[in-house]
Amino acid sequence: AYDYIIVGAGTAGNVIAARLAESGHNDILVLEAGVSEEGVPASQVPLMAPTLTPSTLDLPSICYNAHASGSDTPYDWNYTVVPQTHLNGRTFPVARGRILGGSSSVNYMVHHYGSSEDYDRLARITGDPGWAWRNMRRYIDRHEKFVPPADGHDATGQYIPSLHSTRGVLPKSLPGFSHAIDSKVIATTQELSAEFPFNPDTGGGNVLGLGWAQSSIGGGTRSSSATTYLSSVINRRNVDVLVNAQVTKLVHTGTICGKPSFRGVQFASGPRAPTTNVFARKEVILSAGSFGTPQILQLSGIGDRTELTSKSITTIVNNPSVGKNMSDHALLPNNYLVRGESLDNLLRDPVAFGIALDQWQASKTGPLANGISNHLGFFRLPNNSSIFATTPDPASGPTASHWEMLVSNFWINPSLPRPDTGSYLSLTVALISPTSRGTIKLASKDPFQAPLIDPNFLATDFDRYTMRESVRAIKRFAAANAWSDYIVEPVGNLAAQTDEGIDAYVRSVSSTILHPVGTASMSPRNAAWGVVDPELRLKGVEGVRIVDASVWPFAPNAHTQAPVYLVAERAASIIRGY
Ligand code: FAD
Repeated sequence: AYDYIIVGAGTAGNVIAARLAESGHNDILVLEAGVSEEGVPASQVPLMAPTLTPSTLDLPSICYNAHASGSDTPYDWNYTVVPQTHLNGRTFPVARGRILGGSSSVNYMVHHYGSSEDYDRLARITGDPGWAWRNMRRYIDRHEKFVPPADGHDATGQYIPSLHSTRGVLPKSLPGFSHAIDSKVIATTQELSAEFPFNPDTGGGNVLGLGWAQSSIGGGTRSSSATTYLSSVINRRNVDVLVNAQVTKLVHTGTICGKPSFRGVQFASGPRAPTTNVFARKEVILSAGSFGTPQILQLSGIGDRTELTSKSITTIVNNPSVGKNMSDHALLPNNYLVRGESLDNLLRDPVAFGIALDQWQASKTGPLANGISNHLGFFRLPNNSSIFATTPDPASGPTASHWEMLVSNFWINPSLPRPDTGSYLSLTVALISPTSRGTIKLASKDPFQAPLIDPNFLATDFDRYTMRESVRAIKRFAAANAWSDYIVEPVGNLAAQTDEGIDAYVRSVSSTILHPVGTASMSPRNAAWGVVDPELRLKGVEGVRIVDASVWPFAPNAHTQAPVYLVAERAASIIRGY
């Protein structure tokens, strides 16, 4: 037996493993369904991230481990969403890392904490002031290690150093490769300063406005929870990490203080392999992510009784909140044909790509040392928007956002492959404060069958309204003088002007920016809803905690890895009692 068993060596799981192991007092087992990230060079080269998961950001086949556009990969769970009612019934991939580091080993490395109001709202919702920004920002100090950008440029004015830390474990940096459009973006923030003001640091709690992207990249290489937290403890005698170990359920080990106890875990290396049971003296910590965690709970008889019964699973704890309340940031790709330089030719041309890869190997610099966007920004609908007559503002607060824009100087469109010719600018939108909620349900009692994933995108008037108005806003951005000699024309139905035309365009191309949360939500200790209490203990059960993206009750104003890291850092403190 171990003191702690951690299910999932992902973003959060590795933080917990490292923090519990570093005291030296605990024996720890980490079970990961996927493979090691060692020997997967594409997980190190930042701009090769799209080759690790099913995506349509085609790269030349010269890429290490490159997979055909949109096809399954060995580092991903290769899930798809169920047909989306409000997106013309379309279905599309919804990536999740299946590798040491989890999604932090395959994601696009944007690293921003969200709005301070997200954390204050979490404190309000849960009744635990410890989740408020005043307390949570302390964990930034432990978590991040701000390092110079890969190209060594002077980053003065591109971030606010006092909001950041150079003492933590995860190297992060500003963009390490400059693009010709960078100066146009900044010029637009000056020209259209009322609508698109410059934000000197969107990564430190104040999100509104447009600023320089911060990424989990250090020295031109990806920083994941595996290369940082896990690698710092993996050689310790008190830590065992098993790969190819898929947890099939929690094991019911009896009753303690009137509650069912689940201090055991069952796992197997595949559908036909034998199962093994292991037991925890102290706790089992579920960190299998927003899809894996509710799936394991349901397989263990913890969930909505009606749903479990329909899959011939005996209910041990009837909790209808398990797998409900899922929210995700819908993604709307917007492409413009441009004249001049973009990365599209590099990404099409195996020779040019090979030269860039040589440069990365030799010096960890060049275009491949960089993430997908040098700038991003968070924006609100105007306060007098007609939608607020019928929908209360769902943002976390008055300085939190409704939508995000990412600026990239190449074709980004998960729904349409890159055209064979031409250079493109992508102004990608993410719906930051959605009011739609989706579900994770079992397809069957077979743990090796993918769950039914329904984000239920754009199911509400508010979400459709915000998407429509974001399209109008990015058109105003693109109409700035700063772009007049660069942008040629919008691609496809982005040109639509009427409400109906824009809505049809949005339905036809929107998908996911891959930030699902909320499927095992935190709630107040005695609330009739929710899956974990504010200290992340599984409700109605003894011996289990959940620490991963699934506990966020709503989607924060950020790409979700940094908010997950902060939650995991606090969770480790709670478990260790300091
Ligand atoms: P994960 O990191 O996914 O970890 C879960 C782990 O559990 C995985 O290793 C998984 O294999 C394992 N697991 C699951 N089920 C089982 C089981 N039954 N048995 C054993 N192990 C199991 N966020 C950002 O902030 N910036 C970005 O640029 C960004 N881009 C993204 C791009 C992609 C392609 C993806 C997939 C995500 C992206 N995200 C991004 C989202 C972000 O990475 C996630 O929100 C975050 O990493 C989730 O952390 P987690 O700990 O909840 O889950």
